[in-house]
Amino acid sequence: MRSAFISTVKLVHWIRQRLEHLAGAPMLAMALAVAVGSLGVAEAAVRSSLRHQSRPRHIALAALTQPPHLQPALPLGPEWEGIDIDGDGAPDFANPTGGPPRGHDAYGYGYFHAVRDGGEREHEGVDYDSRPGQTVVAPISGYVARIGYAYPGNLQLRYVQIDNPALKLEARVFYVRPDVRVGQSVALGRPIGTALSLQSRYPGITNHVHLELDERGRHIDAQSVILARGGDSSFMAAMN
Ligand SMILES: [Zn+2]
Repeated sequence: MRSAFISTVKLVHWIRQRLEHLAGAPMLAMALAVAVGSLGVAEAAVRSSLRHQSRPRHIALAALTQPPHLQPALPLGPEWEGIDIDGDGAPDFANPTGGPPRGHDAYGYGYFHAVRDGGEREHEGVDYDSRPGQTVVAPISGYVARIGYAYPGNLQLRYVQIDNPALKLEARVFYVRPDVRVGQSVALGRPIGTALSLQSRYPGITNHVHLELDERGRHIDAQSVILARGGDSSFMAAMN
């Protein structure tokens, strides 16, 4: 019993140390109270053979009490929200990977109209960071109008084109292994394929999905319609 008490004290001390890095004193006091409350709940739950499971508290407890090296990686970057262009109150765009627009690497930036080929041309899409193997989702709703190849002679790096005639939108999502067929309808944010590694073609590049969006036949900047939730302007400014 005594050793259990000591370990709880240690745990609270450790939580306090971590929280001090993250929050000011009032927040610390509140968070600590919540954490200690969760500990009490967890211990009681163990003693009563998990009679009264409290799932949210268990999750909070796990997040707070796992040693740093065992903590799951926190989701990186902001969440994303598409704008509503048809006024139905629902988003009409989605981030295809959930990752941020590609920052600078040896091949340039990933934002719309970034310089390419030493100024010979402009980047006509927005690159969203990806992990090879991750699911890629439909950035717009519509139907699969085309599945093509990104580069002549390369049968691996393909793109999926989704057309939405009602919204006069087209989206081409590059560097995916498609899980959809031409003619198939796709809903916004639903899986269309798997992200691929670009390392064999562009060694050292940040893996990404290249998204080209057209509205009424003209390229538009995906970053103008897929926004960082919460308006993290410092993050967006860094990208540009
Ligand atoms: Zn690109």
